[in-house]
Amino acid sequence: MQYMALCVPVLKGTLSEMELHTIKARMHAGLLNKAERGDLALQLPIGLVRDELGQVRKHPSREVQDRIALVFDTFLQRRTASKVLQYFNQQQLLLPGRDRSRDLVWKPPTVSAIISILKNPAYAGAFVYGRTRWKPRATADYHPRSKRLPIEDWKIRVNDKYPPYVSWETFEKIQAMLRDNHAEYDRNKTRGVPRAGQALLHGLLYCGECAHKMVVQYTPATYYLCNHLRQQYRVPVCQYIPGVPVDQAVLEAFFQALSPVELDVYAQAMATHRQNRDQAHQARQQQIERLRYQATLAQRQFNRVDPDNRLVAAELEARWEAALRELKQAEESAAQADQVVVVPFALTAELKAAFTAIGEKLPQIWEQDLLSRDQKKALLRCLIEKVVLHRIARDCAQARIVWVGGETTTLRIPISVQKFSELSGAQEMEQTILKLSAQGISDEEIARQLTASGHRSPKHQSVLPSTVKTIRLRHGVMVERHQSHPRRIEGFLTVPQLAKALGITVHFIYDRIHKGTIEIVKDQETGLYLFPNRPATIKQFRKLIDRYTAAPVLLLDELTASVETRSCDLRMSGPIALAVPA
Ligand SMILES: [Zn+2]
Repeated sequence: MQYMALCVPVLKGTLSEMELHTIKARMHAGLLNKAERGDLALQLPIGLVRDELGQVRKHPSREVQDRIALVFDTFLQRRTASKVLQYFNQQQLLLPGRDRSRDLVWKPPTVSAIISILKNPAYAGAFVYGRTRWKPRATADYHPRSKRLPIEDWKIRVNDKYPPYVSWETFEKIQAMLRDNHAEYDRNKTRGVPRAGQALLHGLLYCGECAHKMVVQYTPATYYLCNHLRQQYRVPVCQYIPGVPVDQAVLEAFFQALSPVELDVYAQAMATHRQNRDQAHQARQQQIERLRYQATLAQRQFNRVDPDNRLVAAELEARWEAALRELKQAEESAAQADQVVVVPFALTAELKAAFTAIGEKLPQIWEQDLLSRDQKKALLRCLIEKVVLHRIARDCAQARIVWVGGETTTLRIPISVQKFSELSGAQEMEQTILKLSAQGISDEEIARQLTASGHRSPKHQSVLPSTVKTIRLRHGVMVERHQSHPRRIEGFLTVPQLAKALGITVHFIYDRIHKGTIEIVKDQETGLYLFPNRPATIKQFRKLIDRYTAAPVLLLDELTASVETRSCDLRMSGPIALAVPA
């Protein structure tokens, strides 16, 4: 009985625990269901509000709306959160936020506030659930920490649920830009300053593998390498790329960027600049309007109070005065900011022509060493924000140039390798070489064809005939000497040279030699048939040919076509020339 009495509460406890678990699971499922439809009433960021009917709308204040839009616009133009902050501070603009009772307040902007606006998908109209995951800490003493997940790992996302401040495409673009900047934000607070040394891009290069800044190594040759991970974790260097081809490729792109087309982009940038100025002016005016309203409100409250109620009257008077002070300050700084009129640098037709001329001459000036290394580096920095380097294959690097305007250019840079087998297309090249050389095509021609289809030799930009020959010989494919080596021997004519001089095929001559019409033995040293290079030889050959051309058509054919097997009745009276070089 006692046992039963003990057992019942335990059983009850277990049952209710199970029940609790089921309820929790059901609630969670319900929550997820609701979330999947995007109907879960999640907390909204500033700038979005839920009305009485539960509909999400933009904040009724135009100032709040415009300021959030300005954060996105400014980021798209300046591309880093710290530059957005700098701009807001320059223009003395505040950011909307919430106080503890979730009321709207205006606060001085911070980088983290700007980033949290930029990263919030609600501003792109998307309902998102499960953007973070709880990450347990190593020790039990600490609370677990939430970890932001990448977009593709978000649990639920329903687009077009809220009125958007930016499009989803723009939002994704911004996330990519933030990732790109990662290295700059966290580890290098400033852009690299030019340093002395040969490598032109030092300080501008970032590792495409781990996003850290790359350094230069000058011995034994200039190399760009990323040794951050090695320094931190003693793992091998993550990238090691020769400097010269990278510098050359980026430089070429830089010269191209100075073309007339790019100057049109400058005109566009100036238009954007004007638009920015108008936006900032409007934001300041909105700020002033709000402060003016607050001052009027404070004045009204002060007027309404009984002057005898001194404690309250004094407080309200102080508030009114403070509001007036704030308004005056804002008006003054707005007037100041409006006075600073930056006259945009207008690009007239003459100026454009002059710039184009400079662009055309710059490569020449660059070569002539009229500019110092430092001047060159400074020039590059005028247009190039950074270069992200990525070795995509043993023999190829990819460089993504991020221009100061925000545009990017992707280049493929061939990198020299030590061995043929290290080339990306080595196998394909080998097969082509074997196939073509078996057809009797010369090494030079094969090299030309391979170069045209984008191949190259290990240490050159194109395929060299010597590379073709090496591969061919490795597989024991021989071709007749004259195909790979047009030989010239002083004082003598080889069979191909003679055939060319006479305008006949080499087969005609070989055939006569074979049949004994022409008596000649091969030179021991060169292994070639050599005829003395003198008028008499040509004269004798002409005679021989004349005798054949006098014969029926069949023989004429033999002269011009490469038919070797035809027999011929006509014979020369005697041996034509016997020439064995001494
Ligand atoms: Zn790296």
